[in-house]
Amino acid sequence: MANTVWTIEEFSCPSCSMNYTATREEHEARHTGSFKCSVCNAVVHTWSGNHHFFGWEPIKAKPPVFGRRWAGVR
Ligand SMILES: [Zn+2]
Repeated sequence: MANTVWTIEEFSCPSCSMNYTATREEHEARHTGSFKCSVCNAVVHTWSGNHHFFGWEPIKAKPPVFGRRWAGVR
């Protein structure tokens, strides 16, 4: 973890304006992924590049179904 760069980023759902936060982790390898809104199921964020996101969770409420990792959603 010492040489890992983490950045907290915030997103809002384009459909219902629900706010989310996720942690961006820089990688040497290319990653792709996406996050969907837990309220309306709209795609809130997609990425493709040398970074990955995890820790995706709503800011206003935290449903217990959200674990520490939310990866590989297509
Ligand atoms: Zn939404």
